[in-house]
Amino acid sequence: MGAHPDDAPCSLVVRSPPRPVGEFRSGVRATFLGTSSVLVRDEKTTLLVDGFFSRPSLPRVATGRIGPDRRIIDVCLSRARVTALDAVLCAHTHYDHALDSPVIAQIFDAPLIGSESAVTLGRGYGLPDRLLVPAGDGQTFVFGDFEVTLVRTPHSPGDIAPGGIDIPFTPPARYKAWRSGQSHSIFFKHPAGTLHVHASANHIPGKLDGYRADTVYLSIGRLGKQSERFREEYWRETVHAAGATTVLPVHWDDFTKPLDRPLVAPPYLMDDIESAMEFLIRRCRREGVALELPSLWQETDPFGRSRPARD
Ligand SMILES: [Zn+2]
Repeated sequence: MGAHPDDAPCSLVVRSPPRPVGEFRSGVRATFLGTSSVLVRDEKTTLLVDGFFSRPSLPRVATGRIGPDRRIIDVCLSRARVTALDAVLCAHTHYDHALDSPVIAQIFDAPLIGSESAVTLGRGYGLPDRLLVPAGDGQTFVFGDFEVTLVRTPHSPGDIAPGGIDIPFTPPARYKAWRSGQSHSIFFKHPAGTLHVHASANHIPGKLDGYRADTVYLSIGRLGKQSERFREEYWRETVHAAGATTVLPVHWDDFTKPLDRPLVAPPYLMDDIESAMEFLIRRCRREGVALELPSLWQETDPFGRSRPARD
């Protein structure tokens, strides 16, 4: 990187504090695992959105071929204390969402659920057909007490690898082999509350009307590079449409850096996270919505923030 101040990473750094005891009052726990990877579970069921741990370096992504790193995947699953998994839910098939997803599905013999591209991707990795589950628009899957609904929404503007994965391939491969395919927004309905993971910063007017969520994990990837009008519409069609009371921004970290270091925002040339965060702070304050920057590895109760602690 050059010496221009715009190239410097912004000061947004998140460390992982020790996990507080006795905070899971609703019975549901959620763990942010970098980019848009979010682990959601209760006593009986464990579900993973995306699952991207290998995070190859920028030089490797730019000039070489990339693939899942099984050692890193195992370390990350262990650190997140994942011992069983009921499904991997694929938001879309870019490498920063789906590089490791089929491997994780295979480790736990769990279905990989997503677009036709996700199915083709899984096939290339060697997943058996019984674990490859295409999701129709608005289709709901039941896992224990969770109802999970995948809704088709567009990818954020500036798709780095547009199109679908039509032919199975086996990694390693160039990063552009992981084409976006159809993107999904993912809703979790549980007796304890409703949760929404919106993994790519874009929207279709009215598309998410009727889908409620107490808490939204909201992608802000490239949101800082969009117009104020775009951001306002994005807010209205996601957080406002869901009637959410809590927002946790995701996809704000530099995903070419490994997960064993504190997360940092990407360089300004790649994204403008500060501007997106300023927008969210302003918007949340105006509408009385709680804004929480999720900490890597830290399990939280996505529905328990307003309730008194019980130890
Ligand atoms: Zn993407």
